Amino acid sequence: MDARPREPQTKRDSRARSQSPLVVAIDGPSGSGKSSVSRAAARGLNAAYLDTGAMYRALTWWLLERGIDLADADAVAQAAPGCPIRMGMDPLAPTVAVGEVDVGAAIRTERVTSRVSQVAIVPAVRGLMCRWQRELIAEATSRAGAVVAEGRDVTTVVAPDADVRILLTASEDARLARRARQTHGSVDAGAIDATRDLVLERDRVDSTVSEFTSAIDGVTLLDTSHLDFRQSVDAVLAIVENSWGTAGSG
Ligand code: C5P
Repeated sequence: MDARPREPQTKRDSRARSQSPLVVAIDGPSGSGKSSVSRAAARGLNAAYLDTGAMYRALTWWLLERGIDLADADAVAQAAPGCPIRMGMDPLAPTVAVGEVDVGAAIRTERVTSRVSQVAIVPAVRGLMCRWQRELIAEATSRAGAVVAEGRDVTTVVAPDADVRILLTASEDARLARRARQTHGSVDAGAIDATRDLVLERDRVDSTVSEFTSAIDGVTLLDTSHLDFRQSVDAVLAIVENSWGTAGSG
């Protein structure tokens, strides 16, 4: 997917900037706020928005509907290519469908959340997703001129050549509190406990196949533990401005 024409750019070279596609890759653990922050950043940049986690979730939903044993990696690998995932990448109203079925709500249920990592660790699934995601990124850049793609391995595997690569993190406490508030509407001890497994255990399993706990070379680390939502979005936009604006300017 490195079909991007690269003219030398400076921060002020808006002509070159408007003609050159922009790919922003954002990874992070569960509860880091990457989905909502990435989506808002995409709106701010007038870019398409790709939630790669939603694709793993959609595949998991589909496999469960078909009664496939998720513990059987061969069965998962064999079935996965037949899953007709359709992503709507408008950051104002992103959609996820499998065939004609809108699965936007179903993929956020605990039934899917608690099983998705089991599907995501199958190597053949990762290869397939990587191919689909690169196609979607290429399609989005040619259509919208820019895309913000977020997930676990976008900065490292799916789009390691992205113009801007960011690892969004937050402390464990901050991540648990955010997820508990989202899921249970509260941050009391019961809500935090009920959230712990879905956040920490999922991250533990996911991190066996993707590097999203520390920033590799060329990836900018953004710790949002002490930032509110607006500040996090502004920080992402500032990184884009700084790294993209000076990209190629030598
Ligand atoms: O980001 P989200 O929590 O929706 O991701 C759901 C799951 O999809 C993750 O727990 C992980 O197992 C998988 N995933 C992945 N690689 C990505 C994005 C998500 O393995 N790029």
